[in-house]
Amino acid sequence: MEKTFHLLAGHFIDGTGCSIKKQVLLSVRDGSILSLEELRPGDIEGLGKIPFLDFSDCTVLPGLVDAHVHLTMSGTVDPRLREHQLDFSYEEAEQAISKHLFQHLSHGVVAVRDGGDASGYSLRYKLAGTSPSPAPVRYRVAGKAWHAPGRYGRLIGRSPEKGRTLAESITQEPVGPDHIKIVNSGLNSLKQFGKMTPPQFGSAELKAAIAAGLRRGWKTMVHANGDLPVAQALDAGCHSIEHGFFMGRSNLERIRDLRVYWTPTACTMKAYWEQLPSDGVEVDISRRNLDHQMEQISYALRIGAPLTVGTDSGGLGLHHGASIIEELKLFVSAGFSLEGAIQCASSNGAQLLGLDKTLGTLRPGLGATFLVVKGAPSSLLTTLQHPVGVYVDGVPSVENLPDPCDCTV
Ligand SMILES: [Zn+2]
Repeated sequence: MEKTFHLLAGHFIDGTGCSIKKQVLLSVRDGSILSLEELRPGDIEGLGKIPFLDFSDCTVLPGLVDAHVHLTMSGTVDPRLREHQLDFSYEEAEQAISKHLFQHLSHGVVAVRDGGDASGYSLRYKLAGTSPSPAPVRYRVAGKAWHAPGRYGRLIGRSPEKGRTLAESITQEPVGPDHIKIVNSGLNSLKQFGKMTPPQFGSAELKAAIAAGLRRGWKTMVHANGDLPVAQALDAGCHSIEHGFFMGRSNLERIRDLRVYWTPTACTMKAYWEQLPSDGVEVDISRRNLDHQMEQISYALRIGAPLTVGTDSGGLGLHHGASIIEELKLFVSAGFSLEGAIQCASSNGAQLLGLDKTLGTLRPGLGATFLVVKGAPSSLLTTLQHPVGVYVDGVPSVENLPDPCDCTV
């Protein structure tokens, strides 16, 4: 039997970047959006005949997509817990992943892209067929990321076996992930402002690796900071640049021209700035890194480079779910309109994850996956902390959630 319901949204954001609309009647049938209708005052009075959910004092927006997370790890700042989670058994990781997916859902995040873990537990979790997953969050996983021998990346992946190129390793990967993650630079220095690290792979090797992934149907996300590692990843045909600190304007212009997504993860530096001891050099450098990244985001906005919103959740002080609100605030501080920032966190993310036929935009024919948040859009980035409703494919999914504030482990 067909299941239909109607919902009146006081304010409505559709995820395309278009202006916010008022008094929109959303009709849902069998989990999909049947129609959207902007109402005039007279129309609303006439609605008495059909039953509808009255969210006229709320804002409705698409479910969010976090384009960069690490599901096996929490954002805890306790050094012992951080250390311990790197040695998790699979059973411990399984519990952590389930909990983190719930935390995402409770903050309105309905899809995430994982950037890798050293044991490949996120991929194992997915292959274990915990289906439907405990939370109805779509997740795309890289499994173990790839890094060059002796270079940064051991905590989230592995290097190719001796005697094998990166492309051969990807071609021979026995168990398929959803996408490939390659680390092509070091971490951002917290000791020396703007310090560059050399690329991890040669241009030809990177290009062959990305092509090998594509032959198996996998897109590639590349961790890259600094001008050369980013330029090389763009030359090689990557699908997204992760972090991209200090990449420079010419790389941002190429990102625009190539229509590659950039996931700036600016909140990572904000978290360091907030969490590190206030008397050390690192807190000062993290603040300057953040300011520099904000300038890069402003420039990307000005020239029309496409961005996604990713948080690196699982890193220090970066809690699953809650962090997307921090990143959205930074986008708005850098000059994005609220609609523009939400577009990066919904339709852009959905497109990068290959989910744009299902979610990310609110329009007839797509899934009824949306959030209901109390109040007007002006308070959205505060009230998003506690959505009134999270609907996934027309089903309200938020009632059975644990306390959304329970984000410490
Ligand atoms: Zn990451």
